[in-house]
Amino acid sequence: MPYLFKKKRHATITLMSKANLLNVIAIERIIIAVLMAALVGASFYVFAQKQQIASLSETESNLQSEKTTLLEELNQASSTIVAMETRLSELGENFEDLEDDYKDERNKNEEFEDQLKDLGKTVGVLDKLSKTDKELLQKYSKVYFLNEHYIPESLREIDNEWKYTETKTLKLHSKVVPSFTQMVKAAKEDGINLWVVSAYRSYYDQATLKGQYLITYGSGANAFSADQGYSEHQLGTTIDFTTNGLGGGLDGFGNTPAFTWLQENAHKYGFTLSYPQGNSYYEYEPWHWRFVGEKLARDLKKDGATFYDWEQRKIDGYLVNIFD
Ligand SMILES: [Zn+2]
Repeated sequence: MPYLFKKKRHATITLMSKANLLNVIAIERIIIAVLMAALVGASFYVFAQKQQIASLSETESNLQSEKTTLLEELNQASSTIVAMETRLSELGENFEDLEDDYKDERNKNEEFEDQLKDLGKTVGVLDKLSKTDKELLQKYSKVYFLNEHYIPESLREIDNEWKYTETKTLKLHSKVVPSFTQMVKAAKEDGINLWVVSAYRSYYDQATLKGQYLITYGSGANAFSADQGYSEHQLGTTIDFTTNGLGGGLDGFGNTPAFTWLQENAHKYGFTLSYPQGNSYYEYEPWHWRFVGEKLARDLKKDGATFYDWEQRKIDGYLVNIFD
């Protein structure tokens, strides 16, 4: 290559380089400026991030302490609940104790009331018994008899309608009259006539009667007539009946429909047959009926027994109810 050309070219290069250098510097400045801007931007970004992190961290710490506070509150609430539950359970137990005490007291009161009632009943029974004539349910025998002065507490004349002989004075224990009347009325409704031949007899009436029998029948009279003091008729609760076809007598009464009716129905009105066939006291006396109270008469009937079959002690249990 020629020198000139070379020089020229060098000059050109030099000229070019100067321009380029300026450009490079400018570019470098721009780049630096951009980098600076980026750096500043990044710094701001980092700063902002830091700020945000700090803020989040503070929030987290706040939340943490809030959580702690809440947990404490929760713990307190839990222990309060436990305490309340304990208290409630104690109160429940106390209440149960109180309830038990109340029940105990109430039971005691009821027991006491029952005892009072029982006592009242006992007093009532004793009072009633003390007012009931003990002789009315006694079995009369050779060892037990009525005092000559014994007379029933009150006597009442039998209505003429029920007497065989209307002019005869015939009296009954006044408390037996209602049962007697119901019985003879019921019999009449069934077409059966029951007429009274003998009812209350005093000690002296009996003595007179027995005297007459002894004159007529001699010692044989002992088989059918009680001595004075041994007769159930002195109680005023006992009746001898006659009926149609016997001429006002007693003989043959055991073969009449009237006797059959009494056997089937007398117990409903408190009457019982004292001396049935085969008894060891007197001869068979189908006409002779004694009032012993409805309960005893019914129980004797149920048992297929008669008054003299049972022990006195068993019979005594019925005395209080004799007029019920
Ligand atoms: Zn008689």
